[in-house]
Amino acid sequence: KRQEVGPQEHGIDPSLVDERAANVVHTLKEAGHEAYIVGGAVRDLLVGLRPKDFDVATSATPEQVKALFRRAFIIGRRFRIVHVVFGRGREHEVIEVSTFRAYMDNAAAEAVAGNEKTSKNELAGLKHAVDSSGRVLRDNVWGPQEEDATRRDFTINAMYYDPETQTVVDYHGGIKDAKKRVIRMIGDPLTRYREDPVRLIRAVRFVAKLSGLGFKIEPKTAKPLLECRALLADVPQSRLFDEMLKLLQTGHSLATIEQLQALGMAKGIYPLLDLVVERAEQPFVKAALQDTDRRVSEEKPVAASFLLACVLWSDVRDGWAQRLERKQHPFPALQDAIDDVFNARIGDVSGRGKLGADMREIWMMQPRFEKRVGQTPFSLVEQPRFRAAFDFMRLRAETGEVDVVLADWWQEFSQASDELREDLVAQLR
Ligand code: ATP
Ligand code: MG
Repeated sequence: KRQEVGPQEHGIDPSLVDERAANVVHTLKEAGHEAYIVGGAVRDLLVGLRPKDFDVATSATPEQVKALFRRAFIIGRRFRIVHVVFGRGREHEVIEVSTFRAYMDNAAAEAVAGNEKTSKNELAGLKHAVDSSGRVLRDNVWGPQEEDATRRDFTINAMYYDPETQTVVDYHGGIKDAKKRVIRMIGDPLTRYREDPVRLIRAVRFVAKLSGLGFKIEPKTAKPLLECRALLADVPQSRLFDEMLKLLQTGHSLATIEQLQALGMAKGIYPLLDLVVERAEQPFVKAALQDTDRRVSEEKPVAASFLLACVLWSDVRDGWAQRLERKQHPFPALQDAIDDVFNARIGDVSGRGKLGADMREIWMMQPRFEKRVGQTPFSLVEQPRFRAAFDFMRLRAETGEVDVVLADWWQEFSQASDELREDLVAQLR
C-alpha cells in the first residue's frame, strides 16, 4: 500500500519548499527520527501552489522534538504539537511539528477512554498521553506513519514529502487523486464525517480552494454532506467559529460561498456564516469579501475583525439610525447599537476580547471621519486602528455610502507631513 514516488513522477518544484521546514526535517532525521513535510503543504506543492504554511510530521515525541531546537514550544492540550519558531516580530515563522498519531475509530477510542487496563495492553508499544477524555486520548496516541496517514481527512492531504530525497510517501492514492483532480475522503466518508463533523466544512473549503484548478469532490465524498449537517450541532461553537474564519480568510471567500450554495450547505453551519452567505450579494459585503481575497492573494494580512465588521455593519447602522430618531445622542447611540449587534449576532464568541474590541473601534471611528476640524483629524490618524477604520470607510465610499471625496481627503491626510496636514484642514474652512 505504501508508495514512494520520485521527483520525475510528482514534479514538485523544490524552490517552492520553505527552507526552514526543510531544515527542521533535516535536524530531526539527523537525530535518527523519521520526518517529513506533511498535509496541506504537500498537496499545494503537488498542484504547483506555494504553501502558506508548512507542517512537519515525525516519529519523534514532542519532548524529543523540543530538545532539538533552540526555540520550540509544546502547545495544545487537545492535540499536543511543537511550534518551532524562527525569526522575530512580524517576520517570525512557525513550523508546526506533530508526532505520527495512531488511527483510532470511535470504538477504539472509547475502549481506550473507558478501560485504562485493556487499552494499555492493546496499545502496548505505543506511547500515549493519558488524559481523562476519550477525545484527548485518541488524538495523542502515537502510532506508525501509515496510521498517521489513515487518520487524516482527504487523500490529497495525507502525503509526506522528504525534501532531501525529494520523494513523496503516499498510502491512499493521493498523487493519483491530485492528478485526476479529485477530492476524496480516506475510508468510508459517512463514518469519517461522524467521527469529526468539522470535516464537512473542510470538504467545502478544499473544493472552493481547488475548484479553480479543476478539482471536483468525489460523489461518494459529497453525498453524506447534507445528511450529516446536523452533526455540527455537537461541535463546540469556538471550533465552528474558527472554521468559518478559515472559509472566509484563505483567499477564496467568494468561491467558498458559491460552493456552499452548490453543495446545499449555505445554511446551518454557523449562524454568522449563514448571515455572510445571505449578505454576500450586498455591494458593501461583496466588496469586503473581494478585498479580503485580493489581500490574501497579495500575501497581505487579513483581520477577521474587519470582515465581520463589514458583514454586521448594516445592523449597526440601522440600530444607530433608530436610536438617533429617538433623539439619543450620536455617540452613546452608536455604542448602544453596537452592544445590541454583539448580543444578537455574536453571542458567546464575543468573549474573544480582541476581535470584538477591534470591531467596535472600527465602527466607533466611522462618525469621526466626518469631523475634520481642529485637532480631531490629527488624533484620529494616530489611533492604532486608524488603518482598519480608514479601509472600512473607503469601502463605504466605494459602494456609495459616503462621499468619495471624503475618502480621498483622508487618504491624502494620512500620508501627508504635519505641515501639509495643517493645510489640508485649513482648506476645508
Ligand atoms: P490549509 O492549506 O488551508 O492550511 P491544510 O490541509 O494544511 O489546509 P490544516 O487545517 O492546516 O489544513 O491541517 C493540516 C493537516 O492535518 C491536513 O492536511 C490533514 O491531513 C490533517 N487534518 C486537519 N484537520 C483534520 C481533521 N478534522 N480530520 C482529519 N485530518 C485533519
Ligand atoms: Mg495547513
